Amino acid sequence: MTPSKNLLGSNINLVKSHNIQAILLSLLQEGPVSRVELAEKLSLSNTTITNLTSELLDQGIILEEQVEAPGKHRRVGRPRRMLQLLPSARYAIGVHIGVGSFRVAVTNLFAEILKSEIESFDLASPPEQVIHTILQFVEKAIAACDIDRQRVIGVGVGASGLVNYTQGVNVLAPRLGWENVPIQQIMENQLHLPVCVDNNVRTMALAEAFFGDGRGARVLAFVYGRIGVGSGIVVNGQVFRGSDAGAGEIGHTTIIPQGGDLCTCGNTGCLETLLSEPVWLSHLQELAATHPGSLIATCLESNGTETPIERIFAAARQGDELTRQFIQERACYLGIAIANLVNVLNPELIILGGMFAQGSDLILPIVEAKMREAAFAGLGEKVRLVTTSFGWRAGVVGAAALALTTFFYQQREGI
Ligand SMILES: [Zn+2]
Repeated sequence: MTPSKNLLGSNINLVKSHNIQAILLSLLQEGPVSRVELAEKLSLSNTTITNLTSELLDQGIILEEQVEAPGKHRRVGRPRRMLQLLPSARYAIGVHIGVGSFRVAVTNLFAEILKSEIESFDLASPPEQVIHTILQFVEKAIAACDIDRQRVIGVGVGASGLVNYTQGVNVLAPRLGWENVPIQQIMENQLHLPVCVDNNVRTMALAEAFFGDGRGARVLAFVYGRIGVGSGIVVNGQVFRGSDAGAGEIGHTTIIPQGGDLCTCGNTGCLETLLSEPVWLSHLQELAATHPGSLIATCLESNGTETPIERIFAAARQGDELTRQFIQERACYLGIAIANLVNVLNPELIILGGMFAQGSDLILPIVEAKMREAAFAGLGEKVRLVTTSFGWRAGVVGAAALALTTFFYQQREGI
């Protein structure tokens, strides 16, 4: 795999800190690698690599392993010494705030979850109270993992709606009723750990770019649907937030120009009014009411533990035509919206999450066909369309990734 351009180091103009960043990012993306390979990949001298990696070894951030050359009968020379990141060198806390529930997880440097907890909250609770409960869960999670607090890089928070990343403020989360909530300030004051906050779908995109299927992709977008619809965009390893933190609000692109349903944003006919769990449930309940005895009616009436969206997908998988036609129509709208995204961004990779991933066997082929058909001049042909690498963990892994990336991009004065 060729490292992306931002991974290339330089002996001429860039500072030591930049070269260390490049080494850490390369080890993250490429896995175990020898010093010689590292020097070659990053266009750095062997001496520079030896000096910098020896500092990283001393710091316990990377480790060195002796690897035997392959082949039993071949006479081999010196075994190769490979460098790799030490997963337990640092930890991060991920907090995913959803609509009515939050999830807290502790991860290692590779965003692998050590512990994860979910808790629901009353939408009528003041945000400060919800954050206070989250803080208790964060402290409990750190204690349960028995890790050195000094090795915790910080806390990443994926919040719903519009987020000012620079200030760590949840500017507007209509579905939570939150407005201008200074999440970062409240949490940092109590935790005494660095906290960063971003929109939850953006954090999911970031996780894919660093730790999932998006490694090596220069431009990718993550499209998430559940209570609402949103997208996150990563370009060359950096989240693209736009000029006013509003980039990726795909859920509020107009799909039905006239006579569409009213959206939470105040407009009508937005993508989100056609593609969300509550919308699907309400439409299919109406269909079920007019078709008693149909598979969808039976599935929605069942007393199992499945969520409503799982029951809808189950009816479609069992061959219910009403549900299949409904999904076909709605997935086409998603395909159109994604084709528009492709025309604007020209991404290599689009990743679907949430309900789109849960029902991907039913949704993805329709979205893919529509996207390829509708995108300009074959741009859609080259895009890889996949589901999230992290399943239901996408939100919390994303939040942790937000904190972890601060470690990889950190400016180091000495190390
Ligand atoms: Zn809208």
